[in-house]
Amino acid sequence: MSNYPKSPLMGQMMSQPLLISSIIQHADRYFGDNEIVSRRVEGDIHRYTYRDCHTRSRKMANALQKFGVKMGDRVGTLAWNGYRHLELYYAISGSGAVLHTINPRLHPEQIAYIVNHAEDQYLFFDLTFIPLVEAFAAHCKTVKGFILMADRDRMPAETKIPNLQCYEDLIEANSADYEWPVFDENSASSLCYTSGTTGNPKGALYSHRSTLLHSYASTMPDALNVSSRDAVLPVVPMFHVNAWGLPYSVPLTGAKMVFPGPSLDGKSVYELFEQEKVTFSAGVPTVWLGLLTYVAQNNLTFSTFKRTVIGGSACPPAMMKTFRHQYGVEVVHAWGMTEMSPLGTACTLQSHHQSLPEDEKQAVLEKQGHAIFGVDMKIVDDQGKELSWDGETYGNLLVKGPWIIERYFKGEGGEVLQDGWFPTGDVATISPDGYMQITDRSKDVIKSGGEWIGSIDLENIAMAHPAVQQAACIGVFHPKWDERPLLVVVKKPGADVTKEELIKYYDGKIAKWWTPDDVTFVDALPIGATGKVLKNKIREQFKEYKLPTA
Ligand code: ADP
Repeated sequence: MSNYPKSPLMGQMMSQPLLISSIIQHADRYFGDNEIVSRRVEGDIHRYTYRDCHTRSRKMANALQKFGVKMGDRVGTLAWNGYRHLELYYAISGSGAVLHTINPRLHPEQIAYIVNHAEDQYLFFDLTFIPLVEAFAAHCKTVKGFILMADRDRMPAETKIPNLQCYEDLIEANSADYEWPVFDENSASSLCYTSGTTGNPKGALYSHRSTLLHSYASTMPDALNVSSRDAVLPVVPMFHVNAWGLPYSVPLTGAKMVFPGPSLDGKSVYELFEQEKVTFSAGVPTVWLGLLTYVAQNNLTFSTFKRTVIGGSACPPAMMKTFRHQYGVEVVHAWGMTEMSPLGTACTLQSHHQSLPEDEKQAVLEKQGHAIFGVDMKIVDDQGKELSWDGETYGNLLVKGPWIIERYFKGEGGEVLQDGWFPTGDVATISPDGYMQITDRSKDVIKSGGEWIGSIDLENIAMAHPAVQQAACIGVFHPKWDERPLLVVVKKPGADVTKEELIKYYDGKIAKWWTPDDVTFVDALPIGATGKVLKNKIREQFKEYKLPTA
């Protein structure tokens, strides 16, 4: 943390630390009767209010205190989006401890690695994860106790999990008489590990201040645009970058919260949207694929759903158009990463775009968007020289801002900043009016004859073909050009298309030399722990692939 010079005349305003506990206090005091609805792991629907959530969070904070959890101690969670998880978000961080959300889709060995690396003192988990916790519990060196987030009658009669306790017993045994402590806003509040597609996962350690600033900024109209009139269903998991901050930004606005639990299939999500009159949602493209397929197959429409944020990987333009034109749902394309809490940009139109023809508006909306106030960006070449914002020159994307990491937890990976900027590992263009567009992750760029081909563009074109469900483009070895693009395609159920037809489909849509050299069809693409297509796995699978022209 830097020490900035002090003015001889300091402002005379209250110096009140920005603390996470203030969000749930605000939600209780001003939106106390507003609802939090959860589809539970048990399958039923649970409803209560922000007031109830605040009461139970304070009871849990008392339970943590009795456990001896101190400020700065890490407490892990392995849980779906649900009300108990939300209570822990506030009980753990609000009491000064550090909420460590763990991605249950990781391998048990990887989970044990991060639990040990984080030195978690206690671990809370959902019913679904009993077998998972049994698989790694014995390897946890610092965990003093495990808490099953369920009613007493769900506790297993026998288990290999040591010192297992029941969440509802803790709630029952503790009083709600708890004063949220006040402390330095720069104290650590929560810890998220990157998914570690290369090497071991590294931790991003957020602070109360960074979380509050991110929450303020993310609710703004040109970002997520959440208000007290919304009913918000976060599809993005609370174990993946804090569900993009929604467990904080939604209570901050007082909007109704709707949690889908573990049921993320198209039918379950759609039913919840309709029953709970959801207006706004957020998730990665792969989940929306399931929902859109279900809605199309059953000839349904959305009655209240108005807006969704799509990010985590590039939103295929075809998906955006289906949402916008067929169902009247506005798509806000957003970009960010674990290291950025995660929001960096969001794409909305400004007044000067309103008079543009539809295809030009669509072209703007397909970009990853404008920096949210607080975040600054630049693109640089490999020598670090800043590149121009002309919408065409692409370079390495660097960012800075108060909710972007300075270093990884425990200094993993050493010095990460370049002259005070965080290198995102993404390659992007920035238009003269500040709209950023990701062309690729630097490790996914296809290097053909010393030039770069962006795989995202190639995938977006393929996914606009009516017979294509999903597509990924990777560089494979070519003796003359080093690498050439290979398109890996999953066809829509019942649809058919040939390799030649798909290659022809690129005609006129892209520079000729960008056109994939070959197409291969597969049943499914490998999907990682955060719902993203795993390009490294595909590259591994097609390592020996011989291109027809090679
Ligand atoms: P990881 O997948 O590495 O664990 P994150 O979930 O933090 O980590 O993902 C961050 C990365 O996801 C970004 O650096 C970028 O490559 C990609 N990403 C996120 N949003 C978008 C988007 N809207 N378009 C394209 N890529 C995106």
